[in-house]
Amino acid sequence: MKQAGLLNALEASLKRGRVSGAYLFFGNDEEGKKKAVSRVAQIICCAEEKGVPCEICVACNSAAKLLHADIRVAQDLSIKGMREFRSSLGTGAWSSRSIVVVIERMESIREDAQSLLLKMLEDSPGNTIFLLTALSASSVLETVQSRVHSVPFFQFQSLEESEKVLSEDLVKDFTRFRHLSFEERFLYAKTMAQDPECVVQAFQEWLAYARVAFRRQVEGKLPSLHLSRTLRVIKLLQRLLVLQRTSSGSSRLALERFMVEL
Ligand SMILES: [Zn+2]
Repeated sequence: MKQAGLLNALEASLKRGRVSGAYLFFGNDEEGKKKAVSRVAQIICCAEEKGVPCEICVACNSAAKLLHADIRVAQDLSIKGMREFRSSLGTGAWSSRSIVVVIERMESIREDAQSLLLKMLEDSPGNTIFLLTALSASSVLETVQSRVHSVPFFQFQSLEESEKVLSEDLVKDFTRFRHLSFEERFLYAKTMAQDPECVVQAFQEWLAYARVAFRRQVEGKLPSLHLSRTLRVIKLLQRLLVLQRTSSGSSRLALERFMVEL
C-alpha cells in the first residue's frame, strides 16, 4: 500500500538519524494517523536508540501514550492556548534525541493560530520534530503545508459499513439534486463550500451512497436508475475527492462541477 510505503520511508529517514523536521499525517483514517504518531514518538524516545523502537522499555511505553517527558502535545487549540504552548517549548529534550511536538486535529485550528504554528516551525531549534494531523491537507495553511512532509492516511469503508454510517441528511440532499434547478444547485454549492471539511465529508458520503446504489442496481433492486449514470457519478466523486485531498483546490468549484454533471 502506498501509505505503508511512505511511512516506511519516514521510519528509514528517522533511523538514519535525521530527527528534525515536520510531518503532516492527513486523511480520514483516524486510527492510522494515531498509530503513526505514536510509532514516530517511540522511535525518537526509545531508550535503546537503535532507530527501531524496542517497544518494551519504559520510554517506549510512555511514548506510545504520548506521555513521555520529551513529547509535547498541544491540548488547547485556541489562539491563546497555542500561544502558551509555543512559549512552553523553550526547554530542550530530557533524555531523547529530539523533542516531539504533537498537534492533532489541525482542521479545528483557526488560521491565526495556524500562523503561530508556522512561527514555531520557523523558529524551532534543530532537534525538534513536529507531528501534525489533519482530516484533509486543505485544512492546513498553505504556508504550513510548504514546510511539512505530507503523508496521506485514507481508509475506505466496505459497502456494509457504508450503509450503516450514511448520514440521512446528506443522502436526502443527494437524491434531491436531480430535481433542483441549476440556480438552486449552485446556491447549495456556495453555502456548503464555506466549510471545505463539510464538502469533503459530503463527497465521501455521496460516494458511499452511490456505491451502495450501484450494488443494488446490479442486483436489480433499483430498476429506476441507470447503471451508467451511477458509475459516472462514482467516477466523478472519486476524482473530485482526490483533488480535494491532494490540493487546496476550490471546494466550491468542485461542488459546482459535481452539480452540473449530476
Ligand atoms: Zn524502547
